[in-house]
Amino acid sequence: MSAVSNIYPTAALQAVDAAHHIHPFTDTKALNEEGTRIITHADGVWLTDSNGNRILDGMAGLWCVQVGHGRQEIADAVHKQMSELSYYNTFFKTSHPPVIALSEKLAELAPAHMNRVFYCSSGSEANDTVFRMVRHYWDQMGQPDKKVIIGRWNGYHGSTLAGTSLGGMKGMHEQGDLPVPGVRHIDQPYWYGEGGDMSPEDFGIHVARTLEKAIDEIGEDKVAAFIAEPIQGAGGVIIPPETYWPEVKRILSERNILFVADEVICGFGRLGTWFGSDYYGLEPDLMPIAKGLTSGYLPMGGVMVSDRVAEGLINKGGEFYHGYTYSGHPACAAAALANLEIIQREKLVERVRDDIGPYLQKSWTALGDHPLVGEARMTGLMGAMELVPEKGNRQKAFADKGSVGTLCRDISFQNGMVMRAVGDSMIISPPLVLSHEEADQLVTIARKTLDETYTELK
Ligand code: PLP
Repeated sequence: MSAVSNIYPTAALQAVDAAHHIHPFTDTKALNEEGTRIITHADGVWLTDSNGNRILDGMAGLWCVQVGHGRQEIADAVHKQMSELSYYNTFFKTSHPPVIALSEKLAELAPAHMNRVFYCSSGSEANDTVFRMVRHYWDQMGQPDKKVIIGRWNGYHGSTLAGTSLGGMKGMHEQGDLPVPGVRHIDQPYWYGEGGDMSPEDFGIHVARTLEKAIDEIGEDKVAAFIAEPIQGAGGVIIPPETYWPEVKRILSERNILFVADEVICGFGRLGTWFGSDYYGLEPDLMPIAKGLTSGYLPMGGVMVSDRVAEGLINKGGEFYHGYTYSGHPACAAAALANLEIIQREKLVERVRDDIGPYLQKSWTALGDHPLVGEARMTGLMGAMELVPEKGNRQKAFADKGSVGTLCRDISFQNGMVMRAVGDSMIISPPLVLSHEEADQLVTIARKTLDETYTELK
């Protein structure tokens, strides 16, 4: 088959895909036996597959399509940019109008003390940049022994060597002897799964103080940075207890280490604020960004840099030997600008905070009454449901971890909605343009899916 397109029947597309395509985070052998789903079109919050089924995209692609699918305005902006300047690099004392405009826009939207951005093409590359940047910063500041970066178990910071190492996904670490040296992990603020008999408030303080303990054990003079997502996404939408971030902030304010808030998911309106750091009043030194920056229309990431870090990184002079061919790619910058323009014009951040966010939170958390659900939680438009074998017993999980989540995910898809399974937690993160009617549909499908999953388990 030379020109594969959606005029071919699903089975033919699946056969070619199976023969030639290695999928990310996939048991490709198992997938090839089952056959992949082929998505051919998308508009708003809806996907269409090669069999003509309409599917509600409850995950906004991979937590990224903030403005919804199929925005002609972004396609037009990219087309125009490609006609004028499809590519030029930003290495050798050159720049171009879209990347200049985007940098100014990001400085306007980010917390006041963050005025600079370094570009790359993904969240993983952003965290590779973080890894190198924090070490270079401390070298520049005359403290080259400050090298260790503290991350959290079950945190996710991407899939490159640095991203995997900073993240705390044990399965990923096991494949290839990671993390790389110089990374430590502390516990996550996951009260539902790990809080034991403690109240959420006590647990929040307790886990925050593991940061203090780790810094003391390693020695503050050796610790470069602490990295964390404001709300862990890929780990299962872990919304920390209210006491957690204030206590972490207290600890960070007493220690001379950098704080990296990974905004790859929480940024660009997901929590009803421009950044998760705004939601929790964090004051990061570095903010990796990606996903919602372009709503996924083209790949782009970056690291927002605080004035404090700029002092060491820039004002002390000297070249930082780091960069990517596509750092600040003009077409991606044009997509980002058009996307941010839509988010601002349609007031999507405010919409999540005051309108669709509270609306969906109410009906989503009400799913917590289902016999299969231990807890349903949501902040902004980022939610999870814990599927449990025995309601009311937080200590008891399904014996074959992940199998019920996978079953529920597959049933959800058959029912016309993408929910993601993280172990036995069901996750949603829909586009920020979700209407009230679509929110009702989402919850109706979720409940039907829970009922059918429950019946299957009997
Ligand atoms: N950081 C966080 C918090 C993420 O959720 C992700 C991806 O899901 C990444 C980094 C990696 O981003 P990418 O997949 O664009 O490399």
